[in-house]
Amino acid sequence: MPARHEGKFPVTLIPGDGIGPEIVESVLEVLETVGAPFSWEQQVAGMAAMEKYQDPLPQVTLDSIRRTKLALKGPLTTPVGGGYRSANVALRQTFDLYANVRPARTWISGGRYEGVDLVMVRENTEGYYVGFEHYFPIEGDPHAVAIGAGINTRAGCRRIAEFAFDYALRNGRRKITIVHKANILKALTGVFLETVREVGKLYEDKLAIEDRIVDACAMQLVMDPSKFDVLLTTNMFGDILSDLMAGLVGGLGMAPGANIGKDAAIFEAVHGSAPDIAGKGVANPNALLLASCMMLEYVDEHATARRIRAAIKAVLTEDRVHTRDLGGSATTREMTRAIVARLAS
Ligand code: ATP
Repeated sequence: MPARHEGKFPVTLIPGDGIGPEIVESVLEVLETVGAPFSWEQQVAGMAAMEKYQDPLPQVTLDSIRRTKLALKGPLTTPVGGGYRSANVALRQTFDLYANVRPARTWISGGRYEGVDLVMVRENTEGYYVGFEHYFPIEGDPHAVAIGAGINTRAGCRRIAEFAFDYALRNGRRKITIVHKANILKALTGVFLETVREVGKLYEDKLAIEDRIVDACAMQLVMDPSKFDVLLTTNMFGDILSDLMAGLVGGLGMAPGANIGKDAAIFEAVHGSAPDIAGKGVANPNALLLASCMMLEYVDEHATARRIRAAIKAVLTEDRVHTRDLGGSATTREMTRAIVARLAS
């Protein structure tokens, strides 16, 4: 667990690439306004780190996270070519951040659905993201055959299951849906289903537990998200379904995520570096701001997180300040100013 130093939690701050620095600046201003108990150790990763250290994930950044055990991270771009792995995936693997928590809730009414309130708990270190991929060349075609293998372990399934059930109880949720494809990927996702069901037996009296095949789940989420509460699934299904869930509530600009392990936690927006709008000052800072609220809750600063969420809600629904992705024309600065004004009033 992170510890306070002179009253504050040291946090590794990674502005990231693309729109990262713009939204990070906005989040820092809001956190400053509410007096959030964080002190920042700024470090680089992604393209910014390539420029400075010729390494997308430099040792100084890793050392900083190892020390602080907490990071707030803007989106990172992985350099194309040169055999670099995704810096995001590498961070999750390095710190064994096995739980990815991605909430999706309605912030502005009038969308496709009202009152959506879902949480994806995604296994974050196993499955198809382990990087076991190969090509076999045949007759001069170097890519004649491609092979990709996934790995799920009993221990990995058990710890994400325990995390998800505990998370559901701590957060007053009512139901967990286990999402899998055990009818086809019988071993890979079969072990997940089997293990999670087994862990679930200890929680049966406190939570409703059901399971769905991933394709049916995708359809049902789109047709009626109110049928779901907390979803628990393997790495790649979780990645795909959490974007789908973000789409149900107005897109990636409002979608936060937390990557949590035993020894460290990294908070981020679900979206990427959005190169198409980088530098234009029009990005929605709320995904990262909501991620910072998750970080506040992680260090038990629940009241401050609630205050920020209430200010965001008021700005979106009463002041009707909306960035472009939400159908408005407000800039990042205007959105930030409106949230700060709400917090100061
Ligand atoms: P990357 O390769 O880094 O994942 P990408 O462009 O493939 O980048 P995203 O960065 O997630 O994927 O962006 C997808 C779309 O959503 C883009 O059109 C982008 O402009 C938009 N978008 C993402 N984040 C935001 C945001 N915070 N505010 C407004 N629009 C956003």
